Amino acid sequence: MLRGSCLCGDIAFEVDGDFVMPHACHCTICRKSHGIAYGAYALVDAAHFRYTRGGELVKSYRSSPNAQRRFCPRCGSKLPYDIPGTDQVGFPLGVLDGTPPAIPFEAHIFVESNPTWSEITDGAPCFDTWPPDFDLPVLPSPQRPGSTPGATVAGSCLCDRIAYELPRPPAGMRHCHCSRCRKARSAPHATNAWTDLAGFRFTRGQEELTAYKVPEARFFMSVFCRTCGAPMPRVDESRDLVVIPAGSFDGDPGVRPEEHIFTGSKATWFEISDGLPRRIERD
Ligand SMILES: [Zn+2]
Ligand SMILES: [Zn+2]
Ligand SMILES: [Zn+2]
Repeated sequence: MLRGSCLCGDIAFEVDGDFVMPHACHCTICRKSHGIAYGAYALVDAAHFRYTRGGELVKSYRSSPNAQRRFCPRCGSKLPYDIPGTDQVGFPLGVLDGTPPAIPFEAHIFVESNPTWSEITDGAPCFDTWPPDFDLPVLPSPQRPGSTPGATVAGSCLCDRIAYELPRPPAGMRHCHCSRCRKARSAPHATNAWTDLAGFRFTRGQEELTAYKVPEARFFMSVFCRTCGAPMPRVDESRDLVVIPAGSFDGDPGVRPEEHIFTGSKATWFEISDGLPRRIERD
């Protein structure tokens, strides 16, 4: 039995069947939903999945004509969703609780949409859509104009109600493995860029932002679009800091991930495969 829950704990669920084809999906919908370069999912038989708490709270966003992405309206965690035309549920591995054993990706899919700042290093096979033996639907990808090279860096949420721009590239980018980031992104880690207040502005939809602060945290806050649940930048005036989920960028932000932080809190089921420096503090 594997169990999962959202960051705020309102919603919990369990799976008593097998996780089939754990994979990283690099499609634009997954990238924007999770705020990192990909969504980390396994397929589960719908009959073996059930909510144990808060199932009635789950919010849905229609990400394509026949597919709904699901999230917690309070904390923004991404939740399992039905894969259209199948009896399968896509289970985001980042919401797993406990200490599951290693779940290596068996494939990277929709890699044609992998952003320029993301490198695939784990050696798992890569496919432009689903692997040939998986007869699953290819859904339309949201289109965004992207950034103008050398000018501003742009970004937006999945539903496009919220957009922002940076007059210059962010100061840096890194992967964070702390337990809060993992739950908030519902992914093995967060990938965030950062800049100062002068280096960032929302261009539309700021009133659509929802924030959830972990009660016992000093700073940690999950900020997301209330309609689509996509992680959005967090503006922290007290620290002159804006933290931007890298998956929300449209086009190339001009920076690359530099390090892994909080690897002491890393998900037990995930292995880091790149050579970037690691800071092993825990949260
Ligand atoms: Zn929640
Ligand atoms: Zn995807
Ligand atoms: Zn949105």
